[in-house]
Amino acid sequence: MKKIKQIYLDSASNTPLDRRVFSVMKPFLAESFVGNSHSIHEFGIKAHEAIENARTLIATAAGFSPEEVYFTSGATESNNWVLKSLAFHELFEEKHPKKHLVVSAIEHASVLNTCHQLEKMGFSITYVKPTSDGKIPVLSVKKALRFDTLLVCVMAVNNETGAENNIIDIGKAAHANKSLMMSDCTQFLSEGGIYCQLNKRLPNVDYYTFSGHKIYGPTGTGCLIVRKKAPLYSFITGGGQEFGLRGGTSNTSGIVGLGKAYLMMAARSYHSLFESLHNYLIESLLKNNIPFKINGVANHPNIINLNFSMFMNDSELASLLSIYGIACSAGSACEAASGNEIQNTPSHVLVAMGIPEREIYNSVRLSFSKYTTKQDIDKFVKVMKKLKEQSEATI
Ligand code: PMP
Repeated sequence: MKKIKQIYLDSASNTPLDRRVFSVMKPFLAESFVGNSHSIHEFGIKAHEAIENARTLIATAAGFSPEEVYFTSGATESNNWVLKSLAFHELFEEKHPKKHLVVSAIEHASVLNTCHQLEKMGFSITYVKPTSDGKIPVLSVKKALRFDTLLVCVMAVNNETGAENNIIDIGKAAHANKSLMMSDCTQFLSEGGIYCQLNKRLPNVDYYTFSGHKIYGPTGTGCLIVRKKAPLYSFITGGGQEFGLRGGTSNTSGIVGLGKAYLMMAARSYHSLFESLHNYLIESLLKNNIPFKINGVANHPNIINLNFSMFMNDSELASLLSIYGIACSAGSACEAASGNEIQNTPSHVLVAMGIPEREIYNSVRLSFSKYTTKQDIDKFVKVMKKLKEQSEATI
């Protein structure tokens, strides 16, 4: 059978490595490079300098000092680090532990599954639901706060809908309650430009987390930025790396690549490119008489969740589209099916928004990168047109 050319519309899961990022990484991947950044010899010093340079690049672009930037393997680890290290500290070190968390119901699995573990350890968690537009109401967060709320955790932009939350007011409410504030910024950064100025854009946050491979950096890299004075404890215990708080030999090439990727994102805004792709997609669907709804509000136009339940039925649409050469997702790649796997659980984000299960299975998330073209969108629309014609033929 002839292999169909695949069109990639799944950049919220993973972006391609920018070749300029790869070129700064290359010297640290070459045979000639050795050096553990914590060794005292010249090879080690070189690795150490490269890592600290990347730390300074990210800190400067994000509006922090280098001591506030910690390198990790990705947002999953960063989220686990904050939640578990704070919780363990309360449990084992505090006389009067604060054992309540306020967490949005639309967080990524790396937050929600960690919270389920914390519940088993005796923490109580209030999960705040979004409205039908996919946003977390500030008032609901305020209502959920208690005297013993340790942490509020609400993501800046949802990875399945592109809806942006009001982190400024949510953070203010958390601080007024003397609670800490964490925000997963993984998808917030994807528009580049001013979105990378995290301190300025999201001033009321104590913990910011994100991954490198959503901003054209190397896979398996990430960051945790911790505002000075906010507590942080060791989670991966080991050697003295990352200011003594995250043990393990540092990933020099990955960190160098992440520094370059962040710098490049901060230097350019992709908002108008994504907006034009988003509008082109909507116009093309309308022009071709393909009925659809948008699940939630796609404030960040690189992500759009499209509902085709008016004519698709029991399709498990993302899996079906993969057969036709369209790579997109039903939800987050980390939990739901992406590509060829069988999708069997409906997206927790769309469920929380009150969308019926049948509609969820006939919805897909498309996400763009700076490399996405109008031709990619044409291919998607062409496939949807074919599916619509097929559905009409079977009536
Ligand atoms: N948070 C969000 C919002 C995400 O979109 C993702 C990736 N799907 C993650 C966390 C996890 O990132 P990683 O797999 O890079 O650890």
